[in-house]
Amino acid sequence: MLRRAVFSPLLSLFFPSHCAGCALRIGEGEDFCAECYSSIEFIQPPRCQTCSQPFAGLTSEFDCPNCRGAAFHFECAVSVVRSRRVIRDLIHRVKYNREFWITKCLGKFLATGLDDPRLSGQTFDGIVPVPLHPRRLREREFNQAALLARHLSRNSGIPLRDVLLRNRYTNTQTALDRRERRQNLRNAFSARKNTKVTDQNLLLIDDVLTTGSTLDACAAILLEMGAESVRALTLARG
Ligand SMILES: [Zn+2]
Ligand SMILES: [Zn+2]
Repeated sequence: MLRRAVFSPLLSLFFPSHCAGCALRIGEGEDFCAECYSSIEFIQPPRCQTCSQPFAGLTSEFDCPNCRGAAFHFECAVSVVRSRRVIRDLIHRVKYNREFWITKCLGKFLATGLDDPRLSGQTFDGIVPVPLHPRRLREREFNQAALLARHLSRNSGIPLRDVLLRNRYTNTQTALDRRERRQNLRNAFSARKNTKVTDQNLLLIDDVLTTGSTLDACAAILLEMGAESVRALTLARG
C-alpha cells in the first residue's frame, strides 16, 4: 500500500491512465472517459426476471415471451450491461486481439452483477465458467469466460469450480428447431472427471448471453451432477 502511494505519481507520469474504450487520457484509477462510460447501457428493471432482456415501457417484473414456457434449467440469468458499442468492442478485443488487461476492467462490471437482487440473497458454493471447445481453446489459447470467472472468484471469495467440459464442435444450429437445438447443445457439454457438485448452489459464468441456450445446457448438466441450484451471471447481454 505504502509502496503504491510513493510510486504511483511517478508511475502515472510514465504510464498515464487511458480510457479502455478510446485511449483518451483519464484520471488515475479510472477505466473510462466520461463519454465512453456514458455510452455503456446498464441493464436495469424493467427487464425479464429470467433472462434479463430489457423492455421499455413496462414497470413490473415479468418473464419475456422467450422465457415464458421455456423452462430453463437455471433459476435466472443476470446480465450487467448490453453487448453494444464500447462493451462489445472490449469483448472482441480480448477475444481476437488478446488484450488480456481488459478482462480486469470487464471483471469489475461482472462483479457488480452479484448485487442484483436475484443473486445478492444467495450463498454460492462455487463459480463455474462455461467451457470453451478444446479446438477453439487451442486456436485462442484462453477461455474468456474462465478469465472472468477467475477474477470474480478472487474478488468474491467464492471458490472457482471448473467442472464442465465441452465435447465437440456444435455444428451450425440454424436448420434445427428449438428442441433439437437444445438436445444438440446438451450433448456438447459433460462433467469433468472426479468432480462433485452434489447439493451445491452454483453460479455459472459466461461473457455474453444471447439466447440462453448455452447456459441452459450447462445448467442441465450441473443439475444432473446433483447440484442443488444453478443461477447464471454474464457480463453482457446481446
Ligand atoms: Zn473513452
Ligand atoms: Zn426472458
